Amino acid sequence: MKRYAFCLALSFFLSATGVSAAEQAEDSRKEGEVTFNRLLDKLTSDYEKGLQAPAQTSPADPAGPDLEDRYWITAKAADKYERTKLLEAGLSIEEIRPDSVSGVIHKNSLPLLSEKGFVVESRKTLAQYVREDMKDFPAADSAYSNYRESADILKNLAAKNQDIASLFSLGKTIEGREMWTLRINTSAKGETPSAKPGAFYVGTHHAREHLATEVPLLFAVWLMDNRNAPEIKKYIDTLDIYITPMLNPDGVEYDISTGKYRMHRKNARTNADKTVGVDLNRNYDSWWCTAGSSSYPGSDTYCGTAPFSEPETQAVKKFVEARKNLKTLMSYHSFSNLILYPWGGKDGPVENERDRRVFAKMGGEMAALTGYTPELSSDLYVATGDTCDWAYATSGIFAFTTELEGGSFYPGSGIIAGSVRKNVKAAVYMLSVSGDPYRVLN
Ligand SMILES: [Zn+2]
Repeated sequence: MKRYAFCLALSFFLSATGVSAAEQAEDSRKEGEVTFNRLLDKLTSDYEKGLQAPAQTSPADPAGPDLEDRYWITAKAADKYERTKLLEAGLSIEEIRPDSVSGVIHKNSLPLLSEKGFVVESRKTLAQYVREDMKDFPAADSAYSNYRESADILKNLAAKNQDIASLFSLGKTIEGREMWTLRINTSAKGETPSAKPGAFYVGTHHAREHLATEVPLLFAVWLMDNRNAPEIKKYIDTLDIYITPMLNPDGVEYDISTGKYRMHRKNARTNADKTVGVDLNRNYDSWWCTAGSSSYPGSDTYCGTAPFSEPETQAVKKFVEARKNLKTLMSYHSFSNLILYPWGGKDGPVENERDRRVFAKMGGEMAALTGYTPELSSDLYVATGDTCDWAYATSGIFAFTTELEGGSFYPGSGIIAGSVRKNVKAAVYMLSVSGDPYRVLN
């Protein structure tokens, strides 16, 4: 499909979701009803409430426990090779500037940085960072979906659209939560195999990246709201679509359970040294625990004790390996405004020339629709053990990472509606090519 025609059609469907006053009035009568506009409205009004009365709703101290052991630092790093070394030293890189990066590091890893000759320009404990840089946020925080709320929305969607949608879990986490997945397929339900080409959307490998739950969750709601629009119906009729908005519910709940920020990235594994969590996006079996990954359990980029040591990544492995029909995958993270594609764990693009062109083309189209920057993942830094490298290497899936916007893990709810709208466009684009991604080369 030509991009112009696609954008035009998509603009029409997105604008068609703007509701009239009469519809809104009817909408508000159906208490508890889940619709895309209703959810977006709620997010906006929660945000405004938060702005009006922050003093009454903000906890006096927004910083949670366990934040004295880790630091937010800015370190000099001139290129992707230095950035990769910083990841290996245990820094989770969150902001990249031409000659420096910022991110989270455990206090025990700080000496390693100076040993390796890195210059730390500034540092503060996460407790300080949260107090000084994010003091507004808790007031508007309730707009983000916790585990129960996201599960309720998915259950509601499946119940309302029983003819084409079903709900199942990829499996149980360490703490026994479900990785709820909405499946959209006109002929197969639950975990039954399908021969139709498949698309898989997964959010929140990293707990504190809460916007990465909202985007796939609201995309699921949008798809069901617009299921009868001809452009959307044809994808629903011909594809096998899976949406898992929250792959790491244990981590999400751990991050927010005290009502204060914990800045938790990993899952809820208790490591041998009693630190909490394995970095799920370093735990896949793709050059596992080599470049850009740390073997120190306390670090934010800890790779775990073995590839697929964690139930969350095992569940994705089992799910993907059982579905040879999957053509595309989108993994949502925050917050760098990027569309990334393999290789991430190896310096350079994928070897297959045709595949390389498909990645670049799809990445470019989704970047145009979101306003993000498309980038070969390893041009940013080399990081092994991630979802996309593994999915492409083992199953030939065109797998992308979207780094959403926000400028912080807790950017407030005011950012959700705009981010969801633009990422719905990119998600629909992915559907439009999932029948045969090689067609993008025509
Ligand atoms: Zn992430």
